[in-house]
Amino acid sequence: MQKASRVVVVVFDGLRPDMVTPERMPNLAAFAGEGTWFREARSVFPSMTRVATSSISTGAPPALHGIVGNSFYAPEITRDFVLDTSLAADIALAEARLDGPLIAVETLGDRLAAEGKRFAVVHSGSAGSTYAINPRAAAHGHWTFSVMGGEATRTPHAVEEVVERFGPLPPRTLPRFEETDYVTRVFVEHVLGEMDPDLALIWFNEPDTSFHYKFLASDETDAVITAVDAAFGRIRAAIAARPDAEDIAIIVASDHGQISSSAVADIAGLLSEAGHKAARASARAIDGAAVTVTGGNMGEIRMVYGDMDRRDQIARWLMQRDEIGMVFTPSDDPVRGAVDGTFSTTLVGLDHARQPELVYVLRSDTGLDPHGLPGLGLITGGVPVGGGMHGGLNRHEVNTVLILGGAAQGGAPGQTAVPAGIVDIAPTVLDLLGLPVPAGMRGASLMQDEVRRRACDIETVEIGAGAFRQRFSLMRRGAHAFPVHGGRIG
Ligand SMILES: [Zn+2]
Repeated sequence: MQKASRVVVVVFDGLRPDMVTPERMPNLAAFAGEGTWFREARSVFPSMTRVATSSISTGAPPALHGIVGNSFYAPEITRDFVLDTSLAADIALAEARLDGPLIAVETLGDRLAAEGKRFAVVHSGSAGSTYAINPRAAAHGHWTFSVMGGEATRTPHAVEEVVERFGPLPPRTLPRFEETDYVTRVFVEHVLGEMDPDLALIWFNEPDTSFHYKFLASDETDAVITAVDAAFGRIRAAIAARPDAEDIAIIVASDHGQISSSAVADIAGLLSEAGHKAARASARAIDGAAVTVTGGNMGEIRMVYGDMDRRDQIARWLMQRDEIGMVFTPSDDPVRGAVDGTFSTTLVGLDHARQPELVYVLRSDTGLDPHGLPGLGLITGGVPVGGGMHGGLNRHEVNTVLILGGAAQGGAPGQTAVPAGIVDIAPTVLDLLGLPVPAGMRGASLMQDEVRRRACDIETVEIGAGAFRQRFSLMRRGAHAFPVHGGRIG
């Protein structure tokens, strides 16, 4: 049964649920008060934008969709550098070398197209994120606009159409006030006002960008949070003004949270010093290295020559370092990794054919940052110390915003702690539009009573070797495990 005539999805990149307060975000807080707020909603691991975007579009963890990192070394695609999924050129290279799509499993866009439904996206993130939300938009006759320009979308005619109506694309400033205003106008006036698709999705690149570079609760970041909240107010007002307002479902989400950085731990540099010549992903060259390393506050370490003795040696070395919070290796066991003391990548839904042979997460805890927000951890670099980061399993990175309202409200308003997360967005959209949820999606429709009533049982597992001990908590619902919190003990 169709529960909504239209679905509108609003994504605020990186928004932490504890920032949705009447003081900071009056429009979103009001919406949350009237709707159903899944307060314990979760991202996936790694809690990075392209990984999470692919989980939103496929309703599945990376074990199924195969985007195992924002950057990852994929020798079947190229042995020359670490693939950067933010870049249109790298995605095109992957699709050429793989002789097929980089995201091969069925997506929300694929399902909608098969049912003759229209899907329009207004995106202000990277070309890779814009791709991942609806990878086959062009083939489906769907419409994806990118504020980054025609090269950042597979449907460049959308950019031409918008520029003709709204004028030149805005300048890129930090915080991204101009982009926020421009994409809101396009979404309200063009997508909702003219195109009126079955599913309309807008992705704000804030507050993520300002969290990274201007810190989590600085005055500048608070100002841009107010701006995206006002943008949401404009979107809600536009919906409320329609005669069919009551039939429109609204889903508000974030892809991950963020925590503040306290100091730098240069894992690639330390590995090189320890005798494992390491190529940083950002170097865009392997250059005779023994291992490739991605960074942030977690990353993968891949053996360029497939040397598993070296992998085992590095895993044990990591567990002896004070900077390290968690270590994962692939294994057939659901909990124990191949190297003693490590967790299995299966535990965190990362066990895809493209998975790395070694994953580390830097130390973090729930201590207060200088602005009084909980969540503080080490970074390898990439942002100024004090800046925000995400990717790991700290509860403030994996806890996401997920609020259903309008025709998606269903039942009494309020907060709920039932297991839910970004993998549920695609199934929920399909269910709202009266379409079946494909078996390949691990998520579930949040419109189903049994899903909304499910008890929240948190399981905790621990493992370690020598002085190193790590702990991971999760909520299971069917075949999917939602990450709750992970880190080192002691
Ligand atoms: Zn993000």
